[in-house]
Amino acid sequence: MSVAQEIIKIKKELPKHVELVAVSKYHPAELIREAYAAGQRIFGESQVQELQRKHEELQMEGLQWHFIGHLQTNKVKYIAPYISLIHSVDSVKLLAEINKQGQKIGRKIRCLLQLHVAQEENKYGFTEEECRSYLASGEWKQLTYVELCGVMCIATNTDDEEVVRREFHRMSVFFKDAKQKYFAGQESFSICSWGMSDDYPLAIQEGSNMIRVGSKIFGARVY
Ligand SMILES: *Cc1c(COP(=O)(O)O)cnc(C)c1O
Repeated sequence: MSVAQEIIKIKKELPKHVELVAVSKYHPAELIREAYAAGQRIFGESQVQELQRKHEELQMEGLQWHFIGHLQTNKVKYIAPYISLIHSVDSVKLLAEINKQGQKIGRKIRCLLQLHVAQEENKYGFTEEECRSYLASGEWKQLTYVELCGVMCIATNTDDEEVVRREFHRMSVFFKDAKQKYFAGQESFSICSWGMSDDYPLAIQEGSNMIRVGSKIFGARVY
């Protein structure tokens, strides 16, 4: 199937409340144009340099860029002017830098808190404990140029569906608890970003409302 056909097929099967992020990392601008022509507007990238290049090349009406990779603090300034959502905020230090860069340009930047729920050691993110205590501290309320919009995670890369389901479920519980305790009146804190090509149907069953799908749309990545 072509990129356009995949996009249309996935979208048709998605419940209305679930947003699709087309993960275009390592794929050429040409394929992004194809997806855009099929109606896709949100694209996810994981490297600042690559995103910068594509952002300059692709100036299409309504196109939104989401950052989904590990973000180094010294690179926040490059994407701050245009990024629509940063999924991968994995430290308090990074959050402070995003706030600083947002302040410089007078732009409130939408962010998700990335939690580390997977069994692999090499993944980024807050532990649930760290995130809970950060939220409880209330420090984030000082960051007036950051808008906390929800949570994100990457599940363990395994064929064991129960492991993945359990991780998504924990995220869902975590989100609901945080929402109720700290963001009850805030409509913008509403995003549950989990689910990729191999596990998004499961993710949706377990409360995701934003899925990040790459290879299923664009094919295998060539690194
Ligand atoms: C690459 C990537 C994806 C997409 O992965 P696929 O398996 O190709 O769908 C989703 N989320 C993050 C954070 C990624 O880095």
